Amino acid sequence: MNSPPPPQRRSIRPLDDTLISQIAAGEVVERPASVVKELLENAIDSGARRIELRIDDGGVRRVAISDDGCGIERNQLALALARHATSKIASLDELERVQTLGFRGEALAAIASVARVRITSRTPGDANATTIDSESGELAPAAGGPGTTVEVLDLYAHTPARRKFLKSTATEAAHCAEALRRVSIAHPEIAFTAYAQGRRTENRGAEAWSARALAALGDETLEAHRLVEGGNEALGLRGVLGLPTMSRSRADRQFLFVNGRFVRDRVLGHAVRQAYADFLHGDRQPVYALFLRLDPALVDANVHPAKIEVRFRDPQAVHRLVFNAVRDALRATAAEHPALAGDAGRMPAGAPGLSPSASAWRAPAQGAWRFEARAPGVDAALAMAFQAPAASPAEAAPDASAPIPPLGYAIAQLHGVYIVAQNARGMVVVDMHAAHERVVYEKLKRAADERGLAMQALLIPVAFRADPLDVRVVEDEPEAFAGLGIELGVMSPTSIAVRAVPALLAAGDPAALARSVIAEVREAGATRALAQRRDELLATMACHGAVRANRRLSVDEMNALLRDMENTAGADQCNHGRPTWIQLGLADLDRWFQRGR
Ligand code: ADP
Ligand code: MG
Repeated sequence: MNSPPPPQRRSIRPLDDTLISQIAAGEVVERPASVVKELLENAIDSGARRIELRIDDGGVRRVAISDDGCGIERNQLALALARHATSKIASLDELERVQTLGFRGEALAAIASVARVRITSRTPGDANATTIDSESGELAPAAGGPGTTVEVLDLYAHTPARRKFLKSTATEAAHCAEALRRVSIAHPEIAFTAYAQGRRTENRGAEAWSARALAALGDETLEAHRLVEGGNEALGLRGVLGLPTMSRSRADRQFLFVNGRFVRDRVLGHAVRQAYADFLHGDRQPVYALFLRLDPALVDANVHPAKIEVRFRDPQAVHRLVFNAVRDALRATAAEHPALAGDAGRMPAGAPGLSPSASAWRAPAQGAWRFEARAPGVDAALAMAFQAPAASPAEAAPDASAPIPPLGYAIAQLHGVYIVAQNARGMVVVDMHAAHERVVYEKLKRAADERGLAMQALLIPVAFRADPLDVRVVEDEPEAFAGLGIELGVMSPTSIAVRAVPALLAAGDPAALARSVIAEVREAGATRALAQRRDELLATMACHGAVRANRRLSVDEMNALLRDMENTAGADQCNHGRPTWIQLGLADLDRWFQRGR
């Protein structure tokens, strides 16, 4: 085989323009959806109010986008296709303050290097439209109103090597639809219509930002979301958060925008994940659309050719804002729950079971969470469980003159699992273990945040059998356990004693608690990792402190739990993202019994 001459023997030459564009196209035009994205962004930059997208054969045969924007002057059409030619910035200073989606002036040139491009455009002042064809470069008069249509035909027809990387037509069409979704969520003031193979697939008029975002997140989210709004003029955030009960196994409904541009960003992604972490364990993925606005000078969008990555001047400030705003929105208490705020009693959004549209929740992955089998002594945990009710039993009892609390008053316990209560709107059903576990968890966290978990020494240390690895962990990481309010001692190579437990959990089973905390510490490894997993450990401990199924509760105990739930932020979902209570309104019951009122 003839090998090419070694590079040092070839002379250096400038690449020709087409080749440069083809190289750029490798980064900008990965697939038909990239064409859709670039053309949509150009249409938006043109000031369009209405945009129409047509794709054929997954966009490979044709992508056509029409807008009613400012149009391109006849004598500028050739320039629009030229490399590094843009109307959007003229200086470095303007680059730093850029407000448009485009500014690199390379998209149309790059696309034209790997496909045939036809631009038909008319400015408001033109008597008629003009078409330019990228292959001939010729201009011709054309029909059409003000605005621009860009058609991209036979993508990669001349670069078969690239064409081979494309997936099936259906897959490419789905990517095109996703590109449209991303752009359209960020621009609710613009009407979008889309067609695939001539059939209409999308049609949305100008609408409120939240309506557009909710439509993209899916119908289930309509009833199960929180709006978030935070920050200030200089750095602001707003968005729609799917409740944890709406979580999915795939991260396919997570939309982050910075100044109207869809991005993938580690700082933002991490902040959101962390804010949800308190409600979602394992590998469940939340759904959300979040819009960050900040001074363009404080963010660099020119990091990636497709501008999908950004760099923040002050990433910490961004992280703080997003984390706090999302967490606060998710932590509204039962008293502020949308199901209790509406006019008719309703189930809280996303509660599984009764509403066919609201059952998106699925069990967390096996092993993601541990529930201990009922252990002797756990009943004693109940003493602690109701140690500090918000009101004394006497006060919590129904009182004709006092307003009914949001979750109402307990009437009965159902099958040892549920509490049935009556509130102003009808009936409330509470998952007693899930709700109590959450309340205990929040108490543990608050105690740990405020003053560290107070320890309570056991009168008689409780010893239990352990394997050598458990013993090692106890010897190696005493501070880790102390930080969690647990004091352990090694008795022998095969036994460990619990000497003290967190005061909040003093009435529980110390050995069972110690065993599962040791197991978690073993898994987490170093102490540093433990600090990061503190909340998970506290959640495990809360599970031990929480009331078990089949434990009969008195009415006072039940009412105490309801009051605790009302006063605990984040008590609407359990640690696994499931709802802790549902509301059945009288209207629902009336409907079931076909009872008119
Ligand atoms: P950029 O968007 O980075 O400027 P492009 O190659 O995407 O680069 O577009 C080149 C130029 O063509 C733009 O700066 C703009 O002036 C013009 N243009 C492209 N699409 C449109 C459109 N739909 N309406 C009006 N002008 C357009
Ligand atoms: Mg552009």
